[in-house]
Amino acid sequence: MRVLVSGASVAGPVLAYWLTRYGHEVTVVERSPVLRKTGGHAVDLFKPAMDISERMGVLPRIEALATGTTRLTYLREGTRKPISADVTKLFAAASDRHVEVMRDDLSEIYYDATRADVEYVFGDSITSIGDEVGFEAGAPRRFDLVIGADGLHSNVRRLVFGEVDKTFVGAYLAVLSVPRELGVPGEMTGHIGPGRTAAVYGARHLDDARAVFLFRSPELSYHHRDVARQKELLREAFAGQHREVDSWLEHLDGDGAFYFDSITQLREDTWTRGRVALVGDAAYCPGPAIGGSTSLAVLGAYVLAGELASGSDHEAAFARYENEMRDIVHRSRAFALGVAKTLIPATRLGVWALARGAQLLTSLPSWVVRPVAKLNSKGVRMHDSMRVKDYERQGAGVPAP
Ligand SMILES: Cc1cc2nc3c(=O)[nH]c(=O)nc-3n(C[C@H](O)[C@H](O)[C@H](O)COP(=O)(O)OP(=O)(O)OC[C@H]3O[C@@H](n4cnc5c(N)ncnc54)[C@H](O)[C@@H]3O)c2cc1C
Repeated sequence: MRVLVSGASVAGPVLAYWLTRYGHEVTVVERSPVLRKTGGHAVDLFKPAMDISERMGVLPRIEALATGTTRLTYLREGTRKPISADVTKLFAAASDRHVEVMRDDLSEIYYDATRADVEYVFGDSITSIGDEVGFEAGAPRRFDLVIGADGLHSNVRRLVFGEVDKTFVGAYLAVLSVPRELGVPGEMTGHIGPGRTAAVYGARHLDDARAVFLFRSPELSYHHRDVARQKELLREAFAGQHREVDSWLEHLDGDGAFYFDSITQLREDTWTRGRVALVGDAAYCPGPAIGGSTSLAVLGAYVLAGELASGSDHEAAFARYENEMRDIVHRSRAFALGVAKTLIPATRLGVWALARGAQLLTSLPSWVVRPVAKLNSKGVRMHDSMRVKDYERQGAGVPAP
């Protein structure tokens, strides 16, 4: 089959990899003129996404570019004594196999694994989907299937599904590139107060450091591509938090990489229609930064390709894809709503409880933390409970004799 994928970040290249491996012809169209190496925060790959990356042969490269963050050190607003926590213990409790990696590094690794076999078209976007697919820049073309892997603000979703059910979680996430010397590799240091958290961190291999901001707010009015307005909103949200935070915000005046998005959860349970399917954040974003959206995107892309390769009828494959993903998507949504409440506490008491809780948990020996966490596959262990089928062993992509 000839498959068109919209979006070359995480879900798009992973899907392209598996579709090509199963013998399909894949074109990926990406709106950005080049692969987006434009900042963003570190993302988490939990065991299922690590296992899939291993099957793709890219795991050693991902692990080599891990951020290596091991310590969190926070100052509560209005206090002078920092609180520290060992994050390796937290992640070891949450997942048997986990790596934190910069989103742009991950995207480049998946892209590199596919570029020889996949046609990538940068700087273009789909305008219509009918018998032919229309493009802003290129000539119309014919494809058997069209897949939207184009993120929370998906263009394919808008064209085919129109307005969909969403829940604004009540918070925003921003990431800003700041000079390297402001961050310490292996450590995240920051400030936490009611309704807002700001922190900075570095990584050995990065030329810059990243400042990350999470804040609660009623829904704000701005366009998702109006960067000047987003910067203004960020300044307002963190005014007066701490002079160190002011020093990070000064870099908003430069042209360093900047990412800003609302923490919004998509609530639809149908991600396919006719010859079109959605995958990753375009389909079931549980909320950036809070719900393991990157691992879910990797799994969703793998499952969609696997189901398409397990039979010749795409409609039956789309139905199986939705069935396979539904339960984990529901659990990711519930998990994300809980994380949002805990991670950005609304009150001083909530801030205190979070800081003490993290400190207490990480002061316990791993042999105490891990078995307790393992009892809980709906909570902290939710990500590891995603099922990864072995489609190749089941004969996917092998033509019937
Ligand atoms: C620049 C950037 C920075 C990010 N930073 C963070 C972060 O700090 N923290 C976090 O939790 N998540 C971040 N994310 C989101 C995170 O990557 C996703 O939640 C997750 O990895 C799922 O990936 P995805 O491939 O489904 O969607 P995304 O990673 O959102 O990728 C969507 C891709 O589609 C492309 N696209 C958009 N519109 C069109 C169009 N009309 N035509 C063609 N292509 C289009 C985008 O340029 C992008 O490459 C970021 C995403 C991007 C693009």
